[in-house]
Amino acid sequence: MPFHVMLIPTLGCPSKCNYCWSSDENSPKMSIETVKEVVEWLKGFRDDPVTFTFHGGEPLLAGADFYRKALPLLAEGLSHRKVAFALQTNLWKMTLELAKILAEYDIPIGSSLDGPKKINDVQRGKGYYDKTMKGYKIATENGLGVKFICTFTSESVKHRDEIVDFFMENGWTLKLHPALPSLRSDEPEKWALDPKEYGELLVYLLDKYLENFGSFEVMNIDHLCKCVFTGHGTVCTFVDCMGDTFAVGPDGSIYPCYRFVGMPKYVMGNVYDRPGMEDLARSEAWKTMHQFKELVDRECKECAHINYCRGGCPYNAMTPADGEIKSVDPHCVAYKRIFEEITDRVNKEMFGSPDMGMAPFGFGPEKGSRAGIMSIMLKRL
Ligand code: SF4
Ligand code: SF4
Repeated sequence: MPFHVMLIPTLGCPSKCNYCWSSDENSPKMSIETVKEVVEWLKGFRDDPVTFTFHGGEPLLAGADFYRKALPLLAEGLSHRKVAFALQTNLWKMTLELAKILAEYDIPIGSSLDGPKKINDVQRGKGYYDKTMKGYKIATENGLGVKFICTFTSESVKHRDEIVDFFMENGWTLKLHPALPSLRSDEPEKWALDPKEYGELLVYLLDKYLENFGSFEVMNIDHLCKCVFTGHGTVCTFVDCMGDTFAVGPDGSIYPCYRFVGMPKYVMGNVYDRPGMEDLARSEAWKTMHQFKELVDRECKECAHINYCRGGCPYNAMTPADGEIKSVDPHCVAYKRIFEEITDRVNKEMFGSPDMGMAPFGFGPEKGSRAGIMSIMLKRL
């Protein structure tokens, strides 16, 4: 798992998405002093390449001046190693000035759109779609690459055909995210996508991907297939993320991941104190994360998919148990469903009927036939 530090310049956000669990309108903003401290902390912490993802809340609320100063500080201050950047934003606050600064560092942008305007605005709020598309235009016209994450909720999953068509018509790669129950909400389950439905959605998307292979991509399916093919996880959900992923909140507090930012119980240290790995390891949050790893080794040991699933996401596992580690990720049902579907299809293609659309041993689809699953597995990501 590559070293990943998420920087959360603020938990504030101008949008009020119905199912959001990560915004806090009273959140402070990260100062440039704190960015300097991040650099100093990392100089003595680890020496391998690092990816910084600016996340939130809404990270563009930090403003152009923040990025004009923060990006060179991070890139040059840590230039003895490879430094990469990414940004997750709803794009509402994108300006020409910001786009130019971000383009200098070739920063890939992840944004969020839950489907066509009508569906999107029901769950993300009236006016969201137009504001995001305005920012999208500024970003892409200035050379920035933007990919959209589509959150499927208990409501929008009923419109999955319409949502997939929308992404296909626009020529966009689909990256999906199931709406999660929240550790902070009063109604944690209201929008959450049921794990069984999530599993069926993944199988449906696998079929859509194969039917339209070459003209439509689903990023999650790429990764799920790669997990099975390589035998290890290729995204944080399917590896032991603890110790390789951290998040730094607006005041310099260090957390295991952006999902915990703002919750004092999960603070592991602060960049101003320049903690080493051993210092972070003494925190309760670290111990909780490692309890999850031990639980997975115990609870999932009979599962055929353990090496490339690793019990899923610890945050997801904690939400139904009020922050305690009592079980694996409740999406286990969905992961098993899709991993088994992929494995069955591979077996059929490799050893089964000759009409599966594959050349022998899966080296690409036969001419004129529907693509087979090995076409996805062998894809270069
Ligand atoms: S807690 Fe979940 S979302 Fe965060 S890094 Fe770990 S697996 Fe990824
Ligand atoms: S599919 Fe379920 S049982 Fe298997 S490793 Fe993943 S979380 Fe554990």
